[in-house]
Order: sequence, then structure tokens, then C-alpha cells
Amino acid sequence: MSFYDVLIIGAGHAGAQAAISLRQAGFEGTIGMIGDETEPPYERPPLSKEYFAGERTFERILIRPLAFWGERKVELLLGRRVNGVDPLRKVVTAGDGEFGYGKLIWCTGGSPRTLTCNGAAAGNVHGIRRRDDVDAIMGKLSGTNHVTVIGGGYIGLEAAAVLTKFGKTVVLLEALDRVLARVACEDLSRFYEAEHRAHGIDLRTSAKMGCIEVVDALDGKRATAVRMADGERIATDMVIVGIGIVPETGPLIAAGAAGGNGVDVDEYCRTSLSDIYAVGDCATHSNRFAGGAHMRIESVQNANDQAKTAVAHIMGKDEPYDAVPWFWSNQYDLKLQTMGLSIGFDQTVLRGDPATRSFSIVYLRRGKVIALDCVNAVKDYVQGRAHVLSGAALDFGQLRDPAIPLKEVKMA
Ligand code: FAD
Repeated sequence: MSFYDVLIIGAGHAGAQAAISLRQAGFEGTIGMIGDETEPPYERPPLSKEYFAGERTFERILIRPLAFWGERKVELLLGRRVNGVDPLRKVVTAGDGEFGYGKLIWCTGGSPRTLTCNGAAAGNVHGIRRRDDVDAIMGKLSGTNHVTVIGGGYIGLEAAAVLTKFGKTVVLLEALDRVLARVACEDLSRFYEAEHRAHGIDLRTSAKMGCIEVVDALDGKRATAVRMADGERIATDMVIVGIGIVPETGPLIAAGAAGGNGVDVDEYCRTSLSDIYAVGDCATHSNRFAGGAHMRIESVQNANDQAKTAVAHIMGKDEPYDAVPWFWSNQYDLKLQTMGLSIGFDQTVLRGDPATRSFSIVYLRRGKVIALDCVNAVKDYVQGRAHVLSGAALDFGQLRDPAIPLKEVKMA
């Protein structure tokens, strides 16, 4: 049985950062990283952006060149899926192999939530989480004219934007009454809905779908239409589903780790099991930028910063997780950058005119800045960070005036 002083499960953003940070911190022990994908760690955001659009090759989205891992003595154990954890023996099982650990860092992210309706398993119904997913979609694009995208979150919207570049006819179905409903205020949702419609997308909100109609094809079932609950039939050559993820926590929860929708971790990213940490999309933590709410955050920032927190703790440092959340999304020529978490806001302030396609929305809770959404407004994004960090109460008149740089807005 192989043994690693630190064993990382999941070779994605969090796993890669954990290994990088360990070596940067001078950790000299052995490091193993088990991942069920066959590729070395790569960036996931481009999968619905530049990689999908053909603007960046796979080599250009690798988090580090392949040689890096060998040079840093990080043993990549790829193409293996961990299916068991024994916290007493300090051993994980992957297929028929066993791997011992001193410390375990669980970085397994999540898997795309799938539709449960008839036809959901057809061969041309795709999620977007892994390189394989996007390669499969790209491989079929030349024979595809009509695409139905299910889900008006970031991934669905980004994929729809790329598909219009390829000249595809796109219908986007969102079950709620607006896109981005879980993460943004109504003004931002309406702005993006209008943008997508202006680019020719048939974007429908409050869209209740019934099932996916399929026919038998040589390679299995093939979707031919999405049937709406009201009976309308939307003919389609491909369905792309972006309705969120389910955290990959099975073996850890089965081993006794506390958790539900994710693995519960404390401020050092420790799970309830001794010497086992969890970080990234799969980790439920209390976040001060959401008023202490217990949540999972699905972002590169969170994956990287939680990995750094776990590593600092392994290295004997007392540095609780307290990073300000940030995120971005690219759609058409619009770069959205978000700072903070808007959960629980009770007021918004608009800076600038959405018609100019450059503006910001400042989210407030009880008069204090908690978050910003900045569309093609990088200065506000950069300067707003300090206000989110300090929870600043700002002068409203000045805050509303986009001519006044955020860093110069006076306190209320
Ligand atoms: P992942 O990067 O998903 O890595 C987890 C790895 O663990 C995967 O390789 C998985 O296959 C593997 N694994 C799972 N279970 C096991 C197991 N039992 N055994 C072995 N291996 C296992 N975030 C942003 O901040 N900005 C964006 O613009 C953005 N865009 C995105 C676009 C897309 C299409 C997607 C899918 C995500 C996007 N995200 C974005 C989210 C971001 O990519 C994730 O938050 C980030 O990847 C989380 O890192 P992670 O390490 O927790 O999980």
C-alpha cells in the first residue's frame, strides 16, 4: 500500500492549489493527488467560455504544465476514483487500490445535477463540468443547428452566448421567473435577459418543461425535442443542462463526516473526522460575508483560498478562512465581476447606465456595502473590495454618482 504524508482527493482547482501551497510553504513530505479524470489539473471556467469557443486550447487551460507536478514531487494518481475512506486506519480505497495518508484533503467538487424527466439520459443531452463534456458537445456541433439550454445560471448563459457565436439557434429555458435569480438582483437579471434576446436567443423564464422526446439511434437514444408542460414541442438537436451541481461527498459522509449538502468544515477547513480537511465546492462552511450563513461556494476563489487555509493549518499556522468572495462571468463582450456575497441584501444602488453596457450594482444590508456586481466596470470592482471588506456605510448621493470613483466616496 502506498503512503503519502498528505493525500489530496480530487485533481481540480482546490486539489492543485493545495499541492502548490504545500510546496510553497516548504512542506517536504510526500504528496499524492488522486483524481478520477485522466487529465492533470485544469481550469474549469473556460469550459463554458474560451475553451468551448475554441479560443484557448486544452494545454492553455492547464493549471500548471504537466512537468510541474513531477518537478515539485507531487505524485499524480489520475484516472482513479476514491470510493471509500477509513478514518481509523487512515486509508482511502480507489478501485482495488489502497492509499494510506497522514493528512487527507478532500477536494472533489461536484457533479452536474441531472434532469429526472423522461429522455434525460439521451446521448445528446449534456452537462458542462469536465473537459470530456465539452469535447463531446464540440464533436457534435457541426451536425447541430438547434440547441436547447436548460438553466439560466452562469453556465447555461455562458454556453448559450458561445453557441450564438457558432451561429446556432438557441432556446434557453429557465424555470424561475428570471435568470441568475439565486445570485443577483432583478436589475442584473433583466439586463442579461435583454442582452441574450438581443443576440437572438429565445430566452424563456418561468418555463416549465415536461420531458425530453427521444428516438432510437445507432448509438442509443437521441433527443429530438423538449416537450413543455403546456404541451408545446421545441424541436432540438442537442440539449445542454446547467441546473447546478451535487457535491461529491459520498465516501466521506459514509465514513462518518458531518454534512448534508456538502461536508461540514470549520474555519480551518477541518471536517469532523480527525486529520481530514475538505475544501472547494464540496465544503460547507460558515461565511462571514454572508452574515455567518452555512454554505458552499462554487468559485475558483473559494477553492484556492480554502486550499491555502487547509495547508496553513497543516503547516501549524492559525489562519482561519476569511477571504472576500469574488467571481466572474464572460458573456459576449460583457465581463461581469462580482465582489462579496449579495445574500440578504435589502437595497441596491445602481452606478451608471445599463444602456451603456458599463455599470455597477452595489448591494447593501442595513445601509452597509456587502457586495458589488460590476459589468464592464473594472475600476468599481477593484475599488469596491475595500468597502465590502469593511462593510462600509457610504454617502448615498456620492455612491449613486458613477463620476465619483468608489474609493473617493465618503462615509455616510
Ligand atoms: P473541481 O475543480 O470540480 O475539482 C474536483 C475534482 O475531483 C474533479 O476533477 C472531479 O472529477 C474529482 N473527483 C470527484 N470525486 C472524486 C472521487 N471520488 N475520486 C477522485 N476524484 C474525484 N468559477 C469562477 O470563479 N468563475 C467562473 O467563471 C466559473 N465558471 C465555471 C464554468 C464552468 C463550466 C464550471 C463547471 C465551473 C465554473 N466555475 C467558475 C466554478 C469553478 O470551476 C469551481 O468552483 C471550481 O472548479 C471548484 O474547484 P474544486 O477543486 O472544488 O472542484
